[in-house]
Amino acid sequence: MDPQLAQDQARLAQLLDSAVAEAKRFLAGLDTHPAGATPPPAQPPAPLPATGLGAQAALATFQQRYAPWLSGSAGPRYFGFVTGGVTPAGLLGDWLTSTYDQNALGSSESIAPQIELDTLHLLRELFGLPEAYSGSFVTGATMANFVGLALGRQWLGQQQGIDVAQAGLAALGTVRIFSGTPHASVYKALSMLGLGRASLTELPCLPGREAINVAALEQALQNQAGQPCLVVANAGTVNTVDFDDLAAIAALKQRYPFWLHVDAAFGGFAACSPTYRPLLHGLALADTITIDAHKWLNVPYDAAMQFTRHPTLQAQVFQNNAVYLGQAPAAANFVNLTPENSRRLRALPAWFTLMAYGRAGYAEIVERHCRLAQWLGAQIAAASAFELLAPVRLNGICFTLATRPGPATLQHYLEQLQAGGAIFLTPTHYQGLPALRLSITNWRTTQQDANIAWHALQHAASQLPAG
Ligand SMILES: *Cc1c(COP(=O)(O)O)cnc(C)c1O
Repeated sequence: MDPQLAQDQARLAQLLDSAVAEAKRFLAGLDTHPAGATPPPAQPPAPLPATGLGAQAALATFQQRYAPWLSGSAGPRYFGFVTGGVTPAGLLGDWLTSTYDQNALGSSESIAPQIELDTLHLLRELFGLPEAYSGSFVTGATMANFVGLALGRQWLGQQQGIDVAQAGLAALGTVRIFSGTPHASVYKALSMLGLGRASLTELPCLPGREAINVAALEQALQNQAGQPCLVVANAGTVNTVDFDDLAAIAALKQRYPFWLHVDAAFGGFAACSPTYRPLLHGLALADTITIDAHKWLNVPYDAAMQFTRHPTLQAQVFQNNAVYLGQAPAAANFVNLTPENSRRLRALPAWFTLMAYGRAGYAEIVERHCRLAQWLGAQIAAASAFELLAPVRLNGICFTLATRPGPATLQHYLEQLQAGGAIFLTPTHYQGLPALRLSITNWRTTQQDANIAWHALQHAASQLPAG
């Protein structure tokens, strides 16, 4: 054995203590670590050591070379994108996932696939989804959208007596996909699936909204003249957190043949709260559903769930016919259900956090975030320096400076905020206007953080050159 490797094996317990010490240092500093770091100019990469340093010296090198410039995205005031943190129990589960190093592809020599099935059961309960939905863990909502649309593609073929998984896309002909305000990852999924980005038509939304105009959708479906198609409904858009009327869209299935995929990457968590659950009315009529775990569930990257009512189609698409891969029961044979072959036990952090905090824990997180978003939205709406661009519907705020500046000034504003270190936001475009978004998704975020955020927003605005 390599001497460094042998030494690390002998010192494994001490090394784990070093990792714990580093974790404690980082987590204790999260409140004061810059929300968005500004890394120094890239140095030339270190050469591969001819003889290794050992894990302890590698850790010291890492701490010196990289650690100060990690993002504070796990902390309470990183409001960019839609970014969750990591609950204590989620962190435990994630550490142990690596420790146990199980291959959760679904063979019969480990309980790992059963843990994934049990976790999906907990999640169905959290989201109020019927048992009829099977599911699996994938790396993110992009891959969950990919799986959902892959099943839709297989279903389209089935309507014409074609097995697309077997015959390929060419046999399918032109495919039409309709949506109101799809996430960029839907286009990416369509590209990866060979359906093409151009196969998606964005239909009109309701006035001043990002929710699809269901009458326009019905018109588009009528124009299909009986030709089956795919519909991507959106439950929580990233700009204004708007929700399509899922029940009205699903009702159209009785008159028109289409596959209904719902992207509820973070909006799915509205189900945790009795107040916000009505936003998802009709969700349980979808054919496939995307919900992210590394956002509002607050487990580490990278994790999301895809749910479906059509496991048979899923197995047709993802079937991996290798005898040596084992004979687990079909429902637990994830190698035949997901894009990956080997896969980590990604469900374990989710299992830990769901068991640790339960229904009440997630209701509290979601409702607190929505309350804070309401409060910040009200400050922004009332202040002369800002303009709120959409009502606050859940945990996100879309706004701009009252002068409605161009992208360069907004970028400058964001850089000021980032340099201040207290908060981090990301830009967007909304209805032709350069805009800002603020998403509250981290379990650590409290009213005190909202106060700090509000002061930082005002201070940076006061620093901008007049005009
Ligand atoms: C974040 C998000 C995605 C993409 O999710 P990843 O986990 O980053 O792949 C897709 N759809 C919506 C609505 C999102 O918010």
